[in-house]
Formats: sequence, structure tokens, C-alpha cells
Amino acid sequence: MKKINFLTQILIAFVAAVILGAIFGPDIAVVAPLGDAFLRLIQFIIAPLILATLVVGVAGTGDLQKMGRLGGKTVAYYLATSAIAISLGLGMGFLFSPGAGVDIPPESIDETAADVEQPEGVVDTLLNIIPTNPFEALVEGNILQIIFFALFLGIAIAAVGQKARPVLTFFEGFSEVMFKITSFVILLAPIGVFGLVAPIVGDHGLAILLPLGKVILAVATACILHVAITYGLAVKTLGRMSPIKFLKGIAPAGIFAFSSASSAGTLPITMKNTTENLGVSKGTSSFVLPLGATINMDGTAIYQGVAVLFIAQFYGIELTMMQLLMVVLIATLASIGTAGVPGAGLIMLTLVLTSIDLPLEGIALIAGIDRILDMFRTSVNVVGDATGAVVIDRNEPLDEDEHTAEEK
Ligand code: ASP
Repeated sequence: MKKINFLTQILIAFVAAVILGAIFGPDIAVVAPLGDAFLRLIQFIIAPLILATLVVGVAGTGDLQKMGRLGGKTVAYYLATSAIAISLGLGMGFLFSPGAGVDIPPESIDETAADVEQPEGVVDTLLNIIPTNPFEALVEGNILQIIFFALFLGIAIAAVGQKARPVLTFFEGFSEVMFKITSFVILLAPIGVFGLVAPIVGDHGLAILLPLGKVILAVATACILHVAITYGLAVKTLGRMSPIKFLKGIAPAGIFAFSSASSAGTLPITMKNTTENLGVSKGTSSFVLPLGATINMDGTAIYQGVAVLFIAQFYGIELTMMQLLMVVLIATLASIGTAGVPGAGLIMLTLVLTSIDLPLEGIALIAGIDRILDMFRTSVNVVGDATGAVVIDRNEPLDEDEHTAEEK
């Protein structure tokens, strides 16, 4: 029998999950452990994978100036795409006017959602990048802190030179092993997708979508436009790669992000897709992607734009130009602090709403469909991270240690 290719397998699992979820309703929750097991398998790879690959990548460069330049470019690229994303979200919010004249049945308003925890401030977020204990960072899976530790380790290994050779050899071998584990685990992705998606469809049914259909439509349209236009152009011009090839290569990660609503959880798949399908060097992908998974959230930014306008329209509040600009600024910054886990965007929305004095209760209106919006925004977050890897790698690859490439 001809082997079905991996992408097709994932798509089949996805469609089967939607159909069976719709047929069996909440009872389909029995398959949820399949999804959870897969997510756990993927998550257990993240911390050691980032540490090992990034140490090797940085030690290979050993050039502080280059690292600084690369970091600056990466952050600038991600901030720019996020600002475009939020503007697109606002545009679609105006176009679809999802909050004008909607009548939301009281049972689908989740009052408790407005009590979400307030996110931490910008200074604390920045300070938190420095780990007080690198092992704690690894244990907790704090990605920015792991990046910080790995950068230092890599730079110091390069600075020490010959004597640090065994440490580098260890990390080289270790990173190969982690990539191997990733390959094994990813074979199970279709089962994971099925286990994640079927319970969501079974739980939500299709009825909940109706009153808020326009919000979903506005978010989905903005997401598709952002991928097609912003990413298409970025990949083609800055990355010199065909957008079709790019989308095909990153599709498994995009679909898994859609199913899991976690860009951090998708990270190992994103790294595998970019290195194997898109030809990005491991050094670049291990630096740019984890950074992207934590600070780059274009889908989330789009969602903030639509949600702000939806809530303003619902309460009949007209926003001034100043407030809109404020939304662009705050949402771009907020997306840096958003964790790549399900539902994080909803928490960051409180920050944006507070900054322009919109009622926080507005959050309760969309909380019921947040998971569905989360699926769209997370795929865009992940695909956006991958565009960063392609663009940066084509212009300034953070190559693996020369010794690694040659000695193999
Ligand atoms: N779930 C999103 C992610 O993991 C974050 C969000 O809630 O917007 O990228």
C-alpha cells in the first residue's frame, strides 16, 4: 500500500475529529487523553531541545557583535509584523462591525472570565528574562530564561576555546539526540491532532458559533490576509523563497498549532519543519523560533484588534484615533508578554482594554468562543515565527559550529 504522506495524515485526522466530534458531542471527550498525551510528549522535549541547539548555534558563532545584530534584527522583524497584524485586526473590526447590534444569549456570557488575573508589567517582564537559577528555568520550562542561559553558555564556550571543547561536543551530541526524539514523537502527531480537536468540536457544538459568527469571521479573514499578504511578501522578498513552498513546508506545524492552541507546545514541530522542509540552519532556528514563540504573536495581535472593536461596538463606545493608536502600541507590547499557551491572549486583552478604558466585562462576551479564536491566532503565531526564521536565516544565518558540520 502506498504510504500516505504526513501532511495528509494530519489533515485526515483533523477532518475525522470534526466529523466524529459533531456526531458524538460531549461524549467524544473519551479521546481527550490521546491529545493530552501527545502534548505532554511534545512539551517534554522543549527545554532540552532549545538549550542544546541554541548552545551549539551560539558557540559556533562565538561573535558577540553578530549575536547582538541578529537579536536586534529578529526582534525588529517580529515587532514590525505584529504592528501590521494589529492594524489588520482593527481594519477587519471596522469592516465587519462584529459588535454592532449583536444579541448575545445570557447563558453564553461567561461572567467569571472578567476576573482573570492581571498580567505583569513591562519592567517585570523584562527583568524576568534573567534567571536567578538556570536549572529552575529549565525545570519550569521558562523559554526566555532558557534562551538567556543558552546564549551565555554558548558565548562562554566560544570564549574559553579549546578547554571547553568537551562541553561543546556534549551539547552537539545532545542536540542530535533531542532532534531524534522529536522525529519519533512527531510521527504520533495525527493521533494527537485527533485527540485535541474532537473534544473541542464535541464540547462547543456548532450552535455557540452563531451570535459571535462575525467575530470569528473577522479574525479568520484578518489571519488569512496576514498570512497571504504580509508573510507572502516577507518570505518572497526578504526570504527569497516561494510562498507556496513555505506554506507547504510549515503546514504540519500550522495545523498542530490550530489543534493545540499553543505555540510554545508546537515549538519542536516548528523547528523540525523549518530545518527539514525550509532549509533553515539549526543554529538560526534554535535562536529565532523559541524567541518568536515567546515574543511574536501576530495572530494574538490580530485578535486583540478585532476584540477591542467588537467590545467597543457592543457597548456603543466610539474610539478616538488616539485610542486606536494606543491599541496598536499596547497590543504590540502585550503580544511580547503573552505566553504561548492556550488562552493567554484573553488575559492580555485585559491590558489593552484597561489602557483605553473599555469595560473589562467585555471579556466575558467573547470568552465562550475564545478557544476557537485561539486556534486561528495560534496558527498565525507559529507561521509568523517560521517566516522570521526564513527571513533571518537567508540574510544572516547563525550557522552551526563549523566543527559540527565537518566532523559528522
Ligand atoms: N494560544 C496562543 C499561542 O499559544 C496565545 C494566545 O492565547 O493568544 O500562541
